[in-house]
Amino acid sequence: MDIDVIVVGGGPAGLTAAAYLRRFHRSCLVLDAGDSRARRIPESNNCPGFPHGVSGTELLRRMREQARAVDAAFESAVVDGLALVDGGFEVRAGGRRWRARKVILATGLSDRLPGDDWIEAAVGCGALRLCSICDAYEASDLAIGVYGPSEGLGGHALFLRGYSASVHALPTDDGDGGEDGDASRGAGVQWLQGGGRLAFDGQRCSYAPPGGEAVAFDTVYAYLGSDTSAGIAAAAGAGLTPEGEIIVDADQQTRLPGLYAIGDVVSGLNQISVAVGHAAIAATHAHNALPFVPRGGDGAGAR
Ligand SMILES: Cc1cc2nc3c(=O)[nH]c(=O)nc-3n(C[C@H](O)[C@H](O)[C@H](O)COP(=O)(O)OP(=O)(O)OC[C@H]3O[C@@H](n4cnc5c(N)ncnc54)[C@H](O)[C@@H]3O)c2cc1C
Repeated sequence: MDIDVIVVGGGPAGLTAAAYLRRFHRSCLVLDAGDSRARRIPESNNCPGFPHGVSGTELLRRMREQARAVDAAFESAVVDGLALVDGGFEVRAGGRRWRARKVILATGLSDRLPGDDWIEAAVGCGALRLCSICDAYEASDLAIGVYGPSEGLGGHALFLRGYSASVHALPTDDGDGGEDGDASRGAGVQWLQGGGRLAFDGQRCSYAPPGGEAVAFDTVYAYLGSDTSAGIAAAAGAGLTPEGEIIVDADQQTRLPGLYAIGDVVSGLNQISVAVGHAAIAATHAHNALPFVPRGGDGAGAR
């Protein structure tokens, strides 16, 4: 028998969708590769309901427990294909196949990181950060570095200048950032010579401009872009924006009826609260679009 809904991805978006679907008495299988961005959050302080912060691993543990408590099913899998079959979907991972009436893609994105072996440790202690909307408040009045290609770096640096008087732009190339760079310099951001070396001493990151002395920072924000996981959706026929995000309507549905996309794989604002909101919308729409199943006195109808 077909599963009502397969959710691909077990981060905050996918786990929330699974909990909603089971609470609608729909059968639901989560296929997850197990590498949520949220795993890298040392402590989130903007996650609703956690006034004293929560680590990403603890948040994921709780969300998974909540989905498991209503019997959501899970399998480890890297989904590599999706096709419309008989009005539903076939989902593929290697040699394995599943059939579902609806599919929710919650596969997130991958941050591009400076390719050094200390990255995990530096992110883990907050010396290197990836999301100023998430945690710039905690970096207020610290010595902040902003690392990445000069194009776009001025805008990020200016945003962070709202949190600290000490902000240095650390470009990975020779550019000056154009108008955004000028605006940031006008607001007091110091631009160091580009193309230098970022290092980590176990506690803090530092940046050495070519031929110059290393400057240490309390925290460095890296803006090196990200890689989308939208390829599966595109191959199945869903439309993508020029930036590679899956195009969805107000119900989080792609242009393929019954295929939804939620969380970072679609969102411009990559935040847990946004991912969770997408999940509620998609799961509720999918439930209402599935055939109605009256509940029997013996619990029949519940799946
Ligand atoms: C260091 C850091 C700090 C952050 N801090 C905050 C914060 O404080 N507040 C906040 O709101 N946000 C924060 N974020 C952002 C937040 O982590 C993301 O917005 C959130 O995790 C997005 O949830 P998601 O479910 O869409 O994607 P993800 O959490 O990335 O989950 C996607 C899941 O899909 C799986 N997957 C991918 N492809 C496949 C496939 N083909 N088959 C099967 N499974 C697949 C992945 O392995 C993963 O488990 C932070 C991010 C980082 C990196």
